[in-house]
Amino acid sequence: MKPLSATEIRDSVVNATADEIARMPLPGLHETIWAEREYLGWRDPQSPQRGYIVYWRGDTPVGMVLRAASREPGRSMSAFCSLCRTQQPAHQVSLFSVPKAGQAGRDGNTVGTYICSDLACSTLIRILPPPSQMQPNPAEMVVTRGAGLLERLEGFTNEVLKPAD
Ligand SMILES: [Zn+2]
Repeated sequence: MKPLSATEIRDSVVNATADEIARMPLPGLHETIWAEREYLGWRDPQSPQRGYIVYWRGDTPVGMVLRAASREPGRSMSAFCSLCRTQQPAHQVSLFSVPKAGQAGRDGNTVGTYICSDLACSTLIRILPPPSQMQPNPAEMVVTRGAGLLERLEGFTNEVLKPAD
């Protein structure tokens, strides 16, 4: 993805109050390897239930605040991330509830989905199997996986931006 500045990130958030946006901690933008990310995702060290996702939706950065649900004990052994579609041990995938943008969100409407707990789908999709007859060029898989990830993130964003019914 194209790099984002701190100002672009703060200006991009669609579903939080000005106060929440001002308090939002940012990850180390200088250390970020932008070329290896589809979206920038991070958890809030101050309030661990909180997470953030920012990405380029066309030419416009869009950011969202996410809230992880408390873990339900005794859930299944493995779970799928709805964005990168990677199957993982259940504790590495969290149910996030994301407030909707605008009035719908202020009225308490949220959209829920399972996403990698560390919001690092981009790292996961770059873990490749060794080349095989079936998959002679694993590097191409990253391109396909990245496109799929962005498409699903786009779809999820549409849900967040859609006014309540
Ligand atoms: Zn994921």
